[in-house]
Amino acid sequence: MKIYEKAPAKINLLLDVIRKREDGYHEVEMIMTMVDLADRLEMYELPRDQIVLSSHAGYIPLDEKNLAFQAARLLKERCGVSRGVYIHLDKHIPVAAGLAGGSSDAAAALRGLNRLWNLGLSVRELEELGAELGSDVPFCIRGGTALATGRGEKLETISSPPQCWVVLAKPPINVSTADVYGKLRANELKEHPSVPAMLDAIERQSFADVCANLGNVLESVTLGRYPEVRQIKDVMTKLGADGVLMSGSGPTVFGLVSKESKVARLYNGLRGFCKEVYAVRLLT
Ligand code: ATP
Repeated sequence: MKIYEKAPAKINLLLDVIRKREDGYHEVEMIMTMVDLADRLEMYELPRDQIVLSSHAGYIPLDEKNLAFQAARLLKERCGVSRGVYIHLDKHIPVAAGLAGGSSDAAAALRGLNRLWNLGLSVRELEELGAELGSDVPFCIRGGTALATGRGEKLETISSPPQCWVVLAKPPINVSTADVYGKLRANELKEHPSVPAMLDAIERQSFADVCANLGNVLESVTLGRYPEVRQIKDVMTKLGADGVLMSGSGPTVFGLVSKESKVARLYNGLRGFCKEVYAVRLLT
């Protein structure tokens, strides 16, 4: 039997850092949602007790450093599974981009292997396992739109934002999430985006207010270090995006657009600046 799972990318409509905790993690408040840009995982059993990972993408690890591999190993250990699995990873989400590609692959592996091996784990149990692999993995298991608190693993599902186009542009630099958090002076942040205002905008399905309340405190680090990220934000705004923000720790910038007629102009204009541009819909 072959199992297929889609692993969509996430964007942060809002990312705030409250403080640095004693355990070294940052206390965050994030509003996350998914977009229709996804990796695809194909999984089937192997006669030998081993995990084999393959992908045509030459730029990601295929050993125990890969989060999908780690997800399979964790599930095998915790559930006492002694069967092997082959996982093919069809990679479409840009890597180290702030789109949680690796986390979403891990989530898809947990969901898929739960089915393949008939483990009967609940979504809650999968989320708890996922939290051991990374802070964004529980959200990627649950999907939809959520307010994430704690270090990002405490989730409250909320309504989907109003449907729109999302144009994503990733400049040719790779940004390490750990690096960006390491450079953030969390206690010295002067401005914070408003979670209540964004929740209210989503609840009222006000696209204009969702755009007006986008915010990400990590921009203060990434935009300072990489001027090309700021340049892409400016270009998106000039080309008519209704709301523009960097996702996660970057460097991907997304623009929200309500009118389909604006999307082609934005897409084509951005292609002049970077190769990796995508125009997708929200996954609502
Ligand atoms: P986040 O938004 O959660 O910080 P990201 O989009 O910035 O994630 P990823 O694409 O998940 O970053 O990749 C970060 C690092 O993880 C890369 O250096 C990559 O080598 C490694 N990695 C491990 N597993 C995967 C995977 N399945 N897909 C992509 N990268 C992976």
